[in-house]
Amino acid sequence: MDDPHDVQAIAGSIAARHRTRQARVAWGERVVTVGGDAPVRVQSMTNTDTVDAIGTAIQVKELALAGSELVRITVNTPEAAAAVPHIREQLDRMGIDVPLIGDFHYNGHRLLSDYPAMAQALSKYRINPGNVGKGDKRDRQFGMMVEAAARWDKVVRIGVNWGSLDQELLASMMDDNARRAQPWGAKQVMVRALISSALQSADVARELGLNPDNIIISCKVSGVQDLIAVYRALAARCDYALHLGLTEAGMATKGTVASATALAVLLQEGIGDTIRVSLTPQPGEARTQEVAVALEILQSLGLRSFNPSVTACPGCGRTTSTTFQELAKQIDDFLRAQMPVWKAKYPGVENLKVAVMGCIVNGPGESKHADIGISLPGTGEAPAAPVFIDGEKALTLRGEGIAQDFHRLVEDYIERRFGAAAVSAAH
Ligand code: SF4
Repeated sequence: MDDPHDVQAIAGSIAARHRTRQARVAWGERVVTVGGDAPVRVQSMTNTDTVDAIGTAIQVKELALAGSELVRITVNTPEAAAAVPHIREQLDRMGIDVPLIGDFHYNGHRLLSDYPAMAQALSKYRINPGNVGKGDKRDRQFGMMVEAAARWDKVVRIGVNWGSLDQELLASMMDDNARRAQPWGAKQVMVRALISSALQSADVARELGLNPDNIIISCKVSGVQDLIAVYRALAARCDYALHLGLTEAGMATKGTVASATALAVLLQEGIGDTIRVSLTPQPGEARTQEVAVALEILQSLGLRSFNPSVTACPGCGRTTSTTFQELAKQIDDFLRAQMPVWKAKYPGVENLKVAVMGCIVNGPGESKHADIGISLPGTGEAPAAPVFIDGEKALTLRGEGIAQDFHRLVEDYIERRFGAAAVSAAH
């Protein structure tokens, strides 16, 4: 670099996406493309008993409305398999066309053969090569699942997880490693075994007639650095679309931060075509939290826009009350609550930037960088809140109703900038 102070040259940017094949996960008219030039997709998984078709359909609907573009459900028993077509019907009746993914372990070969209506109602099958059987049963049972996918033209995710890694493959790779002049460490062998398990299974699936575009790969581990290492290696070795996620990420702050850290590094390098954030919900927490985190990761990186963003300062000794925290939360909640309607009514509104700041130190400056921002009075400042619109001070709010007044100003701004009149004026 010629000029070490050239900020443009120093600034990071998202690397070109790792070139992958594109899978089409479809239900009816709805097609969710994964990989290739498609945007990075968000997916999630239910935690209801699949046998409870109504309860599962309701949770799928909640996840879809929260922004999940694909939803996975457990298919673990004959009863669960029998419930899947009913779940699909309920969703179709509710106007929810999100594609469903079936999660199979141990008995997927039998369920997919015995319940053809289930096999058709799903849009994608997740197969874990570590959980399809042992010895010569393994290949036969894996083959039965792949043949079902080929017959019904479904996408397959070959989803390896190091908690259920194929032990026979691992043992044979450990033996080979022991014979090396300079053996690798156990973890390195494990990483190689994970990747080999996924890629060898993909080879078998192709030999059995599965279209390679219909193969998505994942190799999930629970450590951030391990996940980064595994996916870098995977991206270097194949052109399948990659499903990215830190498995067993954990709860709350730990799970959120660990997932965001691992996924951000890989997405920044252009690795990953669809993501899932595997959060353990806290008691009483909505399952949709994992979707909210996934959307936030993609939006924070600038890869996709889902919701208007609210910039708020953290507050400090210059703020004596919680007024500005409450206002920031109210504005954030208000924007998110309106989004289902606004998305259709105001195209582009997801790019809106709002600032809610606590005092004069950074308030006016940060507010000017937003589309619309408010700088609330800090301790000892005059009880007035200047509002900035498109970088200019527009007016000052005073009194008890500052929050409601600001809501109205935001709504007016959105109507002016994203409403039908603005759109027709632009054409
Ligand atoms: S803008 Fe003001 S209140 Fe907010 S963190 Fe900065 S100094 Fe503190």
